[in-house]
Amino acid sequence: DFSEDELEELRGESQRAYDLDRAHVFHSWSAQKQITPMVVSRAAGSYVYDGEARPLLDFSSQLVNTNIGHQHPAVVQAIKDQADVLCTINPAHANDKRSEAARLIAERLPESLNRIFFTNGGADAVEHAVRMARLHTGRRKVLSRYRSYHGGTEQAINITGDPRRFRNDMGDAGTVHFFGPFLYRSEFHATTEAEETERALTHLRRTIELEGPQTIAAVILESIPGTAGIMIPSTEYMQGVRALCDEFGIVYIADEVMAGFGRSGKWFCFEHFDVVPDLVAFAKGVNSGYVPLGGVAISDPIFDTFADVAYPGGLTYSGHPLACAAAVATITAMEDERMVENAAQLGEAVVGPRLREIASRSPIVGEVRGTGMFWAIDLVTDKDTKEPLAPYGGSSPQMNEIIGRIKAGGVLPFANYNRIHVVPPLNVSEAELMEGLAVLERAFTEPV
Ligand code: PLP
Repeated sequence: DFSEDELEELRGESQRAYDLDRAHVFHSWSAQKQITPMVVSRAAGSYVYDGEARPLLDFSSQLVNTNIGHQHPAVVQAIKDQADVLCTINPAHANDKRSEAARLIAERLPESLNRIFFTNGGADAVEHAVRMARLHTGRRKVLSRYRSYHGGTEQAINITGDPRRFRNDMGDAGTVHFFGPFLYRSEFHATTEAEETERALTHLRRTIELEGPQTIAAVILESIPGTAGIMIPSTEYMQGVRALCDEFGIVYIADEVMAGFGRSGKWFCFEHFDVVPDLVAFAKGVNSGYVPLGGVAISDPIFDTFADVAYPGGLTYSGHPLACAAAVATITAMEDERMVENAAQLGEAVVGPRLREIASRSPIVGEVRGTGMFWAIDLVTDKDTKEPLAPYGGSSPQMNEIIGRIKAGGVLPFANYNRIHVVPPLNVSEAELMEGLAVLERAFTEPV
């Protein structure tokens, strides 16, 4: 809660922040002259405050990373306490907060994943996971699915199976894309989940065989693809991928950057499918984004590859003390306040049922899918043809209208192409969820 004076000050600062932004800041993924970024200088819990000091319910968790909401007092305090004693350190040294963060992460992973290599975020976690897989196998190719996102750096964007890749595509980056399961928009003309699973696995097997298994280092999969649409694979599919990797000596990398750390209602999303990856890339929720941090969890056989031969890679800020202090405090708060359980319970009892009810009333909600605090609403012009409300990789006046309605209703949405995602903090309250979902219902039921 801000005082009137604080809010007044905030309003005063905003215009200057906006003007300086437009004069000097170059934004990600944007045509620089076509954007009008909202100023945000304050946030608390599930709310961010815009330039007019108007609260917006954060149904985006920013870029699906503020898993414990904004300004959690224990994490803010941990960052301050760490800043008092040690702000930064050469990663060659051991450090108390880095050691503790690694322990807390490893303890939540399956037994075989014991070592943590820290990075600054998700894309570099993916890059290092791929590098480890290549060095471990002596092979070069990486297989990843269409409808995926793995990060914005050179290798990670080439692995990405999404239109964001197109203008960056190197063509020769050693990446091969395949179709994953997505029954609602099936590439395999399947009409049941079982058919989709079987056909998607056959397709992956044929891709491996025709590419040459001896050339393939890794298969990388988001356990549930995030920005690409929150399509939940079947357990049989995920176990089938694991079995194919075992059969052909291929490293299975789970990209848990978005879906990990409680987002799906479990600590790690692959737990839903009872599979154990060889490498796990993580970031975002590990410390709720309060200080940049990511990493790779490494299984024992891959660790052994680098036990007596140097791993040729590193980062000045690997395991940064402020970021690791934030991770220790975040994971502790998530555990103490039962946030993962909250996400699982409210996802199943509130978000799912409410979204399905909205879908049944709205002419433009084609499908809703999700788990935990990780839901997508697939918007269409026609429920029979499933024509997306905006083209894949693009926007449309109708989608812009929907986004505008949601914001006008006091909710900050996560929008991607023809989809609105419901991805609030894991510790969102039931009342906040009901408030936000009511705004969505109005946005989807009025004619566009
Ligand atoms: N992998 C996945 C699944 C992601 O969702 C993202 C970011 O959204 C990344 C990787 C890249 O992470 P970062 O933006 O921290 O580099």
